[in-house]
Amino acid sequence: CGIVGYVGPRDSKDILIAGLARLEYRGYDSAGIAVIDADGALHAAKKAGKLAMLRDELDAHPIAAGTTGIGHTRWATHGGPTDVNAHPHLADDDKLAVIHNGIIENFSELKAELEASGFAFRSQTDTEVAAVLLGSEYRKHDGDLEAAFRAVVNRLEGAFTLLVMHEDHPGLVLGARRNSPLVIGLGEGENFLGSDVAAFVEHTRNALAIGQDQIAAITPDGVTVTDFDGNPVEAEPFEVKWDA
Ligand code: GLU
Repeated sequence: CGIVGYVGPRDSKDILIAGLARLEYRGYDSAGIAVIDADGALHAAKKAGKLAMLRDELDAHPIAAGTTGIGHTRWATHGGPTDVNAHPHLADDDKLAVIHNGIIENFSELKAELEASGFAFRSQTDTEVAAVLLGSEYRKHDGDLEAAFRAVVNRLEGAFTLLVMHEDHPGLVLGARRNSPLVIGLGEGENFLGSDVAAFVEHTRNALAIGQDQIAAITPDGVTVTDFDGNPVEAEPFEVKWDA
């Protein structure tokens, strides 16, 4: 339901939680974050319930600081509002993390195909098929995360905003959108992704609109936008107007 992504010099955890708090007005039943730490290891925490539950979980079981991170508040559509079904969903031996807004209409067909190839699932969500499929495509594309992500989004039907990151690619968050919103926030030496500008309005007023069926790649010092075939596209800059 709410989505935020960060790459830059700062510990992303508080930025992600604050961004999710700003998106709370949309309603949600679970929350979670994942970060990649300085040693290139991915850590995730997720809980059913309010953001306060996630904060309590992080107090009880702190995760390492990480300057690359993604955060999600979930409004369950497939699978009940449980800790396991909360996002992020991990795959590729827990090296990659995926968060998702929307509904993947063809998830059961993809899930059956992946199960037939020997992949296991932990949740009842439609989202986890995107994570597991990305892990599979990542191997087929020899560690080219962007090529693997393009292969994934081209197989999904329905509505999705997806953010992904992988341990092998610290400092990179990829986002894609179809029938669901995604915007880039442009900072100085740091960049953001959000399901709306509320996710990053505390940090920057400079934003880029992502069009239908486009992929954004953000690193601390740059952003690129392409279509689902990898062709570069021009994203439209706009200034965030916000009285808060
Ligand atoms: N369909 C996904 C799920 O149920 C995402 C729901 C959402 O947009 O938060 O986990």
